[in-house]
Amino acid sequence: VRSLTKHFKVGGTFRNKAGVVRAVDDVSFNVAKGEVLGIVGESGCGKSTTARLMIDLITPDKGEILLDGEAVGGKLTLRELRRQVQMVFQDSYASLNPRLTIEDSISFAPRIHGLPAEQARARAHDLLRRVGLEPKYFAGRYPHELSGGQRQRINIARALALQPRLVLLDEAVSALDKSVEAQVLNLLIELKEALGLTYIFISHDLNVVRFISDRIMVMYLGEVVESGPAETLFKDARHPYTRALLAAMPSLDPANRTKEAPITGDPPNPIDPPSGCRFHTRCPFAEAVCSSTKPPLAETGNEMHFTACHMVNPASGHTKAKPPTPG
Ligand code: SF4
Ligand code: MG
Repeated sequence: VRSLTKHFKVGGTFRNKAGVVRAVDDVSFNVAKGEVLGIVGESGCGKSTTARLMIDLITPDKGEILLDGEAVGGKLTLRELRRQVQMVFQDSYASLNPRLTIEDSISFAPRIHGLPAEQARARAHDLLRRVGLEPKYFAGRYPHELSGGQRQRINIARALALQPRLVLLDEAVSALDKSVEAQVLNLLIELKEALGLTYIFISHDLNVVRFISDRIMVMYLGEVVESGPAETLFKDARHPYTRALLAAMPSLDPANRTKEAPITGDPPNPIDPPSGCRFHTRCPFAEAVCSSTKPPLAETGNEMHFTACHMVNPASGHTKAKPPTPG
């Protein structure tokens, strides 16, 4: 993903302001085959919009999506991108057509893409087995006859029906009970291994993201503020926003508790976000340079670990007066 940007003009007002919501602003990242990239941040940070832009559910203002180095418009058609990249949403019920049986729901897209009915049916049954639902009992049922966990298994099967390579999971387990959530997470990991899938896993729940992700990207008000390997991010987060998010995370292990203050209050209005570093209105380490100059996302010292903060990458005049103690 290269320089992905989407601004929404707000016709009326949003939180008493009119103007342009900078939902996603110059966001770039890679995801490697077989990897799980977690995207975290408070609601409104642009993580869902990023996913929707990636499959062209929303058209970007700027930027490119490349698959194996091919941008949409060249050899890669939008239709092919939409086959190779599939998405699972939080609301398991809204994603399913209530009038279609489970089998028809799963086989619908393959049939549209030209797979003969018998083969589409066989694929639906295979996928039902893979997600742990015996076709004999489930193929002919309707969404309202299933539990939330079963419906989300169906949505996963449906997302896999066109044999995609990348699956975008947007709060895909967030609505489930904790025990069901664990089962569906384990299922996702099994499927990834068995089918050679790649995931982008979006969630506000850091514990879940830590469990499933190889790499994590933290977003704030439409921008990436930190990214790195999952364990590095949890053990050695550098950006004050990431550190505040981690401090707010419930932990049973006292050794994992930091002395830092968890973040309080809501993010600022996404219409006309703060100048310079967008986090400066909530950051305990902010100095003059933070409100005037936007910090670049720069390598932090650890391998593949990037942070956008003047205090962490001090070339830009931050005095580092109050460096945070290691968590
Ligand atoms: Fe805080 Fe400044 Fe770093 Fe932004 S750039 S996170 S305001 S210290
Ligand atoms: Mg969202």
